[in-house]
Amino acid sequence: MASEQQSATDVEAKLPLLGAARSAASIAAATPGKPVSAAELAHATVAGGAETPIAREAATAVMAEATRRAGLPAPFRSRVMVVANQKGGVGKTTSAVNLAAALATCGLRVLVIDLDPQGNATTAFDIDRWNSELPSVYDVLIDGVPIDDVVRAVDLFDTLWCVPATIHLAGAELELAEADARGKVGATVEGEWRGEVRGLLRSALRDHLEATGGDERRYDYVFIDCPPSLGLLTVNALVAGEEALIPIQCEYYALEGLLQLQQAIEMVQAHLNPALRVSTILLTMYDGRTRLSADVVDDVREHFGDIALRTMIPRSVRISEAPSRGQTVMTWDPGSSGAMSYLEAAREIAIRGATDRSSRPVDNREVR
Ligand code: ATP
Ligand code: MG
Repeated sequence: MASEQQSATDVEAKLPLLGAARSAASIAAATPGKPVSAAELAHATVAGGAETPIAREAATAVMAEATRRAGLPAPFRSRVMVVANQKGGVGKTTSAVNLAAALATCGLRVLVIDLDPQGNATTAFDIDRWNSELPSVYDVLIDGVPIDDVVRAVDLFDTLWCVPATIHLAGAELELAEADARGKVGATVEGEWRGEVRGLLRSALRDHLEATGGDERRYDYVFIDCPPSLGLLTVNALVAGEEALIPIQCEYYALEGLLQLQQAIEMVQAHLNPALRVSTILLTMYDGRTRLSADVVDDVREHFGDIALRTMIPRSVRISEAPSRGQTVMTWDPGSSGAMSYLEAAREIAIRGATDRSSRPVDNREVR
């Protein structure tokens, strides 16, 4: 009898609709007389934590669809998010390009600055990083070229732009270090000093945001994709932004190196950019079948609390194959669990950054 009851419970636990019904019942009890929307239901199902992987996928799909239809609130002013983690391969670039694409899918205006000499974000947006003639972020940092002159529209999106990285950027770190040793960057064409080596991206971005901020070209989000190091390129990004977004891979040693990253952020905060804060942790490559992933999630949530997004990005073949097609997963397979998770993470970021005062309505534009 006990085993019969046990197996009935097991079966129940595998039924996504049952979890959804329980969620609906709990929302209805909390808000009597108010109809429960599909999106509310889906959020409650995911937040409830008792659901099965199938239920979570179903709920994420409902939420993603609701988000695509409703659009997202735009922040009052441009949010500059620095995607950083000196550990390699944790999902920085994948998260930068897919969060940017997800926000753009919902009609928000987004710029991605590729600050990694590997140029992976550039490639993901189908821009030829091997073209040494291509105006790039190198020209911005080293020669003082305005961002306006190097920014490119990203194909397949109406409201997504990229400042590409080309092979030249590989030499930039060394050139910056040499300039740093001299105390300043070499003269611009006009022969004027352009300021402190660590603040080069900041001043270029500030000029660009000022030039675009007053009109319909205003960006809602700027993502800066950092290389896997804490060198001068990453420091330039941390000085240029106000929010650090740290992707953490759900793998062994996930938290290793985070102390150094936090120390670097604190140093930048103390000396160069007091506005900087770690606003967002995103768990990537989550595998619900492994104990290890669950342990990493527990550790991260214990350590970072609410800074960690509720949405976790699952390990997904569609996510990893999209860049080889010069696409983000948002266009490569918009119905995949990877695309929907990035959309849901983007929704969390947008909602956290928007208050009544600071949000403005946007059109919900479709991906072309
Ligand atoms: P680097 O430090 O070298 O810049 P990174 O932190 O930017 O790396 P990514 O390049 O985004 O990391 O990801 C590393 C690899 O993992 C890539 O091959 C990417 O396609 C793959 N990857 C990222 N996220 C996922 C995912 N959710 N599921 C499956 N593969 C993923
Ligand atoms: Mg990268």
